[in-house]
Amino acid sequence: MKTPIKIIIVAALAVAVIGAVALEQSKAPVESTPANAIAVAGNDSSKSAPATNAPLPKLIDLGADKCIPCKAMAPILEDLKKEYAGKMNVEFIDVWKNPDAGKAFRIEMIPTQIFFDVSGKELFRHVGFFGKEDILGKWKELGVDLTGKTSAGIILEEPVKPDTRPRDHVCFMCDEDIQPKTKTVVKGQSEQRVLCSPHCYFIYFSSIVGADPIVEEAKVSVTDWASGNLVAAAAATYIYGMDAKGRPTTKAFADKAAAAKEQQTSPGNLLAWDMLRSKELATRCAFCDRAVYPEDACGVKFGTTHGHGCCTHCAMGVAARLKQDIEVEAKDGLTGELIRVKTLDGQIASLEPATAIAWFGQTKGPDGKWASAGCFKQGFFVNGGNLQKWLDARPAITGRQITIAQALSDKMKLSPEQIAKACKLGECK
Ligand SMILES: [Zn+2]
Ligand SMILES: [Zn+2]
Repeated sequence: MKTPIKIIIVAALAVAVIGAVALEQSKAPVESTPANAIAVAGNDSSKSAPATNAPLPKLIDLGADKCIPCKAMAPILEDLKKEYAGKMNVEFIDVWKNPDAGKAFRIEMIPTQIFFDVSGKELFRHVGFFGKEDILGKWKELGVDLTGKTSAGIILEEPVKPDTRPRDHVCFMCDEDIQPKTKTVVKGQSEQRVLCSPHCYFIYFSSIVGADPIVEEAKVSVTDWASGNLVAAAAATYIYGMDAKGRPTTKAFADKAAAAKEQQTSPGNLLAWDMLRSKELATRCAFCDRAVYPEDACGVKFGTTHGHGCCTHCAMGVAARLKQDIEVEAKDGLTGELIRVKTLDGQIASLEPATAIAWFGQTKGPDGKWASAGCFKQGFFVNGGNLQKWLDARPAITGRQITIAQALSDKMKLSPEQIAKACKLGECK
């Protein structure tokens, strides 16, 4: 890069591209990529450039004006540049005129198209002619939204397919199908709740304001693993084991001897109800106080303390509840890929990957108002493609796609009274 200014000028097809490069320069430091190598070259000329626009995804085509497939690319790039102005940056670099640029991007053949996300991270590269529809299809596949509006995203006000499962086959807390061997029932004077497992009972219990454990547990029956009959939860014996992923499992037995027999082939600790309760209630959501398994939770770091958020939205709420900067480690709802969020004064300080988005599960009440569908219907995703796949598998879900910044600011707006009621049965808004 001996003549940096010249490289930029020759590389650019239009003044707008210089602006785009300058924009990159003004952003916070990101991973060192060839894209940034070019941006650094434009250092002196770009300092005064305005940087008011949000960063955009970028397509760079490296070719030469005399190569035949490269010539075929030119009108496509022009089209994309016009149609997606303000939504994606499109750049052409002539590597015969600028061999240094070719080296910086480690180009071996031309034309080569490189796709970058908003943080300047390379997502994909293609060698050879690449048609317009193929380019647009690739962005979609990469989960990059080219609609340009940050508020735009998936909105589902009606379920794609209504949930026709009988209510007594669906867990009141988590909405999963109830397996007959772990069915758990809470039967009060007026209410009857069917739950998928003793674990969901403890989530339910920790969602009741001022609940008395003795009063509540007198209402609970669990399914005897051996006979399939419902038995009083407090009188049962439990095998507290672990599944292949390290997540706790519970099997209930009316008869302690039957539990001990099962334990020989199904490893785990034999526990009475009191012990099970203290284990189940040991880990709580740092925002809503619900019982949670760390295996299901988001990690939340505040100061030197590590806690948990029972869902991704609760994790952001820890910043609001504690009035502290936090670091959240969430898992993509579909793939489990890590999403890291750091907050500063109630705002997002950093987000990895920058393409990560949130799903805000909501249901419409009888009054026509939309309210949170609860912790089990929320999630973060590394990109829109993953969210779409997750929704495809859950056709009954309603809600909307929001940004992670929005997920945080929704929580930051809550008053201490609202936070105290968060995720509580009948109280959560
Ligand atoms: Zn459940
Ligand atoms: Zn929570």
